[in-house]
Amino acid sequence: MVEKTCKCLCGAVSFVAEIETTDFGVCHCKMCQRWSSGPSLTADAEINNLTGENDITFYQSSEWAQRAFCSKCGSNLWYEIIAEGPNFGAKYMSAGVIDDLGGMKLATEIFIEEKPDAYCFSGDLLQMTGEEVFAAHSSTENGN
Ligand SMILES: [Zn+2]
Ligand SMILES: [Zn+2]
Repeated sequence: MVEKTCKCLCGAVSFVAEIETTDFGVCHCKMCQRWSSGPSLTADAEINNLTGENDITFYQSSEWAQRAFCSKCGSNLWYEIIAEGPNFGAKYMSAGVIDDLGGMKLATEIFIEEKPDAYCFSGDLLQMTGEEVFAAHSSTENGN
């Protein structure tokens, strides 16, 4: 577990992310592409010491998840599971709001079948299709 300070572009929202592992992932689904203007890089995290709560807007992007962003500057903050079940409340922090990614490494790519040919990540990454992700979590808890 690592603790990382985080803030949005304008600084209205800041918090400390308690990150489960030093590995983080990238989602290539089309919804993340629209949201992030490209692939969405995220780390599983708990949020502590949140300031600027009133400046956060939530957009419910599917029946099972919502996406948080800063109302002032538009920075993407996190993707959060809102469906009932064991993963309720799980948050996937946008890597870009983490002040320092030092010590962390990109490990997984999901929804690989939706990745455009125009770019790719280098390195030995675990790649999963959307179908594999849904099967691994046995419900609709990730992606989209
Ligand atoms: Zn902001
Ligand atoms: Zn996605």
